[in-house]
Amino acid sequence: MSDYDLVLKNGLVVMGEAVVAADVGVMGGKIAGIAHHLHGTEEIDCQGHIVTPGAVDVHVHLQYPIGPLTTGDDFFTGTRAAALGGTTTIIDFVEARPQQPLLDALHERHMLAAERAVIDYGFHMTITPTDIPKLDQVPAIVAAGCPSFKHYMAYSFRLHDGELLQSFQAIRRAGGLPIVHAENWDVIQALVRQNLAAGRTEPRWHPRSRPALMEGEAAGRVINLAALAETPVYIFHVSCQAVVERIAAARAQGQPVYGETCPQYLLLDDSLFEQPGVAGALPICSPPLRPRSEQAHLWAALARGDLQVISTDHCPFWLADKAAALEDFSRIPGGVPSIESRFALAYTFGVGAGRLSLSQWVARCCTTPAQLMGLTHKGQIAVGYDADLVVFDPQWPVTLSTETLHENVDWTLYAGRQLTGWPRHTLSRGRWLVRDGAFVGRPGQGQFVCRHF
Ligand SMILES: [Zn+2]
Repeated sequence: MSDYDLVLKNGLVVMGEAVVAADVGVMGGKIAGIAHHLHGTEEIDCQGHIVTPGAVDVHVHLQYPIGPLTTGDDFFTGTRAAALGGTTTIIDFVEARPQQPLLDALHERHMLAAERAVIDYGFHMTITPTDIPKLDQVPAIVAAGCPSFKHYMAYSFRLHDGELLQSFQAIRRAGGLPIVHAENWDVIQALVRQNLAAGRTEPRWHPRSRPALMEGEAAGRVINLAALAETPVYIFHVSCQAVVERIAAARAQGQPVYGETCPQYLLLDDSLFEQPGVAGALPICSPPLRPRSEQAHLWAALARGDLQVISTDHCPFWLADKAAALEDFSRIPGGVPSIESRFALAYTFGVGAGRLSLSQWVARCCTTPAQLMGLTHKGQIAVGYDADLVVFDPQWPVTLSTETLHENVDWTLYAGRQLTGWPRHTLSRGRWLVRDGAFVGRPGQGQFVCRHF
């Protein structure tokens, strides 16, 4: 007799701190049993494989417009690539036009994602200067299942300190979570102007215009503003120890401050900007890649828990778009891809290299991002949670390249990287998305997830 729709048999199951050999039973799209000798209508032998929650990527930009450009991955290709890499939930972004109500902008974004997404998704609402008069709409966005709000301290749509404070206060009153891209735009602008005026236009001047010191300063300012507004705060894409130190110091005082980093900061360094031609332009992203010496600090912060999350900031512009602006580093569209490889990169270079335990790997890529972002039924293998599951083959050798990856972009910074370990199967709410490394899902299968704290 079958008690379950599906049973993953005899895998090594990562459940919080515990890593146990067990069967995982799925019923009605939920995890319904974790024990030995379970039986199901369908049974998959997972001997020698690791069973993890579906990975959660809380920072992706799909179909993301910057001026006349749009990122290569749309909600179909991006979520398909995510699924092939073991990610079953993403959080993308909504930006409202100046006069547009926030809810209208959210609905527009819903329409784009609904017919294409193959994995589950949510949205962060972006608060730009033209949204400050709309802060009374924040509770409606929280009620619509989007309780996290993105703020930029860089670019033309950056917020000044007073605007950040106002927004943080409104979000705290509504029970939401502010998120910040922390950099010091005034200093960046001054350095960019100085460099361009002196004829220093190559990509190598990008990191020299965005110093780690000032990323640390901006993060410290955000942490102080959050303390003043009495709100938790989450800092995106931490690239350097200067930010880690501030987060750690605030947390040691009991302040609820959280930080993520991304594969590009853990595995790549600023020597890539020295490459000639477009190769030096491809790695342009902000904050920039840092000197190699920063990487050990970031890994250690992940292991200690001073950084809680590995996300991607997946934002893939085409090689031609990067090449078109080569004569001025400040005009090269920023962003790098890794939506497909994040989970496996973190395994090979985290677990495989002895920097993270299996439990830490799952915590940073699956469990903690789900908890911090209000994904109350995701990110854990526990009865009652969504059956978003990955059967990870720790022996599978994969050499990364644009041919092996499915991201809709014609370059990757990880070309030639040898990984040991890759997701063999991916399930979303008990349904097959990836089977033996092949995508078997369909567009529109993903659902919007109402998040709440
Ligand atoms: Zn981003």
